[in-house]
Amino acid sequence: MGQTAVVTGSSRGIGRGIAVSLAEAGYDIMVNYSRNEDAAEDTAREVRDRGVEAGICQADIADTDQGRRLIDSTLDRFGRLDLLVNNAGIAPRVRADILEAESESYDEVMSTNLRGPYFLTQYAANWMIELKAAGKIDKGRIVIISSISAFAVSTSRGEYCVSKAGLSMMTALFADRLAEHGITVNEIQPGIIQTDMTGQVKEKYDRLIADGLNPIRRWGQPDDIGKAVAAIALGYLDFTTGAAIPVDGGFHLKRF
Ligand code: NAP
Repeated sequence: MGQTAVVTGSSRGIGRGIAVSLAEAGYDIMVNYSRNEDAAEDTAREVRDRGVEAGICQADIADTDQGRRLIDSTLDRFGRLDLLVNNAGIAPRVRADILEAESESYDEVMSTNLRGPYFLTQYAANWMIELKAAGKIDKGRIVIISSISAFAVSTSRGEYCVSKAGLSMMTALFADRLAEHGITVNEIQPGIIQTDMTGQVKEKYDRLIADGLNPIRRWGQPDDIGKAVAAIALGYLDFTTGAAIPVDGGFHLKRF
């Protein structure tokens, strides 16, 4: 039987790109979504077109019980869990200056982007330890999709930046704790990627990219992130853990 990956938020955008790249790498995929069932079906179809299995599980990642249900459904369906990709995330509903932003927005963003993934990872990691001990999986791998916002300041969406910076520490913590169990934990920091999330600010980013914000002057695409996750999934980074890997067209470079 093939290896199995759960990709949170894989109905659209980067998550779909990751699901399809992992399917091309031979993984069976549990597609997760929050509201958009039709889009999740489309992702599952694209996965199956690559000759592997796809399951679909609705679960709001901000809710820890629903997160556990996502992992349980994966084990019921596929009998194993080799890779967890924490991808689902939201931007604040309103871009508000940090001198004015509301605590409700902070709570919503933090529970979806950080608290949910933190406890989902805890639950999945405990299962991976058990599955490894039982000889049902060879290696465990966990990937966390953070952002260049883990280090780049945007004062009109402070809660988003704080959630992503928190994911960096979460990566380090779980990487350290899980190494002895043969489970790697790495963070991918996407730059500006063309998805629904960035659709509202497309003109602004078109301009910034044309002006050279990234040394590689183009939008990132979901499969740019998918390929990086596939490299981890295929074992090409098995001596790497706790790393923050930029997939950002060079955005992170400090330049004169
Ligand atoms: P997107 O186009 O808005 O897609 C978001 C995906 O996450 C959808 O599949 C959505 O499901 C799912 N989702 C949202 N809230 C969820 C929840 N509570 N529980 C389960 N699933 C949920 O976003 P994206 O641009 O692909 O971003 C994906 C990740 O990459 C996010 O963590 C984002 O912060 C990060 N990122 C994006 C960029 C970028 O430029 N786009 C850059 C850096 C980092 P439904 O379809 O059901 O709504």
